[in-house]
Amino acid sequence: MPVLALDIGGTKLAVGLLTAGGEVLASVMAPTEPAATPARVLVTLSAMSGTAVREARVRWADLRGVGVSFGGPVDFLSGTTVTCHHLPGWEGVPLRDLVSQQTNLPVVMDNDANAAALGETVFGAARGCEHVLYVTVSTGIGAGLVLNGLVHRGANSMAGELGHTLIVPDGPACSCGRRGCLEAVAAGPAIARAAREALATGEPSALCSLDPDQLTAKDVADAAPTDALAARVIAQAGEYLGLALAAVVNLVNPQMVVIGGGVSQGGDCLFAPLRETVARHAVSESTRDLRIVPAALGAQSALFGAAALGLGR
Ligand SMILES: [Zn+2]
Repeated sequence: MPVLALDIGGTKLAVGLLTAGGEVLASVMAPTEPAATPARVLVTLSAMSGTAVREARVRWADLRGVGVSFGGPVDFLSGTTVTCHHLPGWEGVPLRDLVSQQTNLPVVMDNDANAAALGETVFGAARGCEHVLYVTVSTGIGAGLVLNGLVHRGANSMAGELGHTLIVPDGPACSCGRRGCLEAVAAGPAIARAAREALATGEPSALCSLDPDQLTAKDVADAAPTDALAARVIAQAGEYLGLALAAVVNLVNPQMVVIGGGVSQGGDCLFAPLRETVARHAVSESTRDLRIVPAALGAQSALFGAAALGLGR
């Protein structure tokens, strides 16, 4: 029986119909309207779900359930959103029950980092692993932890806030109000800022041809294989990430660390310093068999994870 997967993100909505084996029968995507209210998002998702069901030529009655990935913290037990960092009006919305009323199906909901961790574990890079740390590095840094095959959510559904680990005391300001968090020194905006600062010293670089105000982490990652300045900036982010990961590796001894998000496309320029730093700072018995790899499902990790949630994983 197929499952309906909903991924509610700050920039896009995605709906998929997947089999228990992870085969995508249909998928529909739409940009998220910046001022969309929860009610409006639900109407859009309902229309997208109808399209997906028609495309896949399945009947509602044949669906096993619904999994929802939400781009912000959720209270897992009550199925309520806490807030959304990108959209207004999502404080305390009983999203799980609303989707259940709309679809007449059982619904399981989680935040996007947990969903992505589960997606990569069930269908992606970490298939067959029991202990997995998933870290997404894009505008922010989030993480999801799978232990003994189950998502570890913690006492308040707040496990995985790796992005707010202190890395540089008194460092740059973070979105959370503190200073020197991992997110403030290694996420996309921090990479772009570090590149701009290096360029301002007059060092020659291929990035000089770009408008500094428009410079993105992707520009820096793309230039890194052939540009010394860009490579140094990406390597620094990799080292910072490695410091935070080493602490988690020491604590939970995962089999695999999966890195997702746009910055994970940085290739060896990112992964080599990241792996070296983890090897240097985590105990060798924990890193001997540890694999640190890019996500296999790319931007769809959370959608696949929503499917896994709907399948009861
Ligand atoms: Zn922070």
